[in-house]
Amino acid sequence: MSFELLEPATLGEALALLDPDDLAVRAVAGGTALSLMVQSHIFKPTRLVSLRRLNGELRGVHVEGDGSLRIGAMTTLTELERSPVLAVSEPVLSRALHTLSNVRVRNIATIGGHLAHGDPHMDLPPILVTLGARVRAVSPRGERWIDAGELITGYYETSLAGDELIVELHVPAQPPGARAAYAKFTALSADDWPAVGVAVWLRREGETVVEARVVVGGATDHPTRMTAAEAALTGNTAGVKAFAAAGDAAAGEVEPLGDLRGSGPYKREMVRVHVRRALERAVAPSEDHP
Ligand SMILES: Cc1cc2nc3c(=O)[nH]c(=O)nc-3n(C[C@H](O)[C@H](O)[C@H](O)COP(=O)(O)OP(=O)(O)OC[C@H]3O[C@@H](n4cnc5c(N)ncnc54)[C@H](O)[C@@H]3O)c2cc1C
Repeated sequence: MSFELLEPATLGEALALLDPDDLAVRAVAGGTALSLMVQSHIFKPTRLVSLRRLNGELRGVHVEGDGSLRIGAMTTLTELERSPVLAVSEPVLSRALHTLSNVRVRNIATIGGHLAHGDPHMDLPPILVTLGARVRAVSPRGERWIDAGELITGYYETSLAGDELIVELHVPAQPPGARAAYAKFTALSADDWPAVGVAVWLRREGETVVEARVVVGGATDHPTRMTAAEAALTGNTAGVKAFAAAGDAAAGEVEPLGDLRGSGPYKREMVRVHVRRALERAVAPSEDHP
């Protein structure tokens, strides 16, 4: 198989080398996901546009004046995992990164590639949806912001156009008292892909849940909000009863896809259990929140 590998020096050059009408022309960041697809002949590129030389322009974790985070698309997962800033503002992400694949992959894989790949088994997208994160995407036509919940639209499908690149991820500052947690269930090793990944986010007034977000990944074709589970929480006391009801509601509404890590019915039961566990973790005094 032959293809050309180009290494533009600027974002403008990279964009000009992409082709919105040719799916065989693709950007490559860390290459951890793309190289596996090329090696297994799932993807046959004619041109790969490496983003390697855009490292300076698109790398790093920056705190804005309002406490929100701006993360360059070429920031590696290891850099994120070790970021003191992330550990303080969004520990739920730092903790999830510890068991995301292995250190060799994390050293090379980038957050931009992680988000653009569209694999429904990714750990971070469900969490980013609960946190209300957005990505900034740039194309020769200009730029736009895409909510994390609207980025991955189906099985390996995203809302990105063929000539659009993610340049940064924006994670807003969370309101005081908001609690987020992630429950990753792996059927094989602890750092395997999640068979089911459940991200939750709660805002309470006193003990009453006034706002809830519950997002399932791994079991569905894209990170999916469990609206019945959210309704089971909202207006109720944050505790055993509401958490069990939310787990039952999520198990009722999820449309699980079976794969090597579990059948659909098995994943449905794992959703029931892990929604409840994620909620328990969210309200427990723990390292998952500032
Ligand atoms: C062995 C192994 C185990 C893994 N286990 C896990 C796991 O447990 N949990 C988990 O969440 N993930 C896991 N992953 C997936 C890993 O998170 C992704 O491979 C990685 O994040 C992709 O990043 P990358 O920079 O290497 O992307 P690449 O492989 O370079 O690109 C992936 C896709 O994104 C596109 N792309 C890249 N950058 C951009 C950009 N800036 N804008 C637009 N499009 C872009 C490419 O064109 C390509 O389509 C695993 C991967 C491997 C290889």
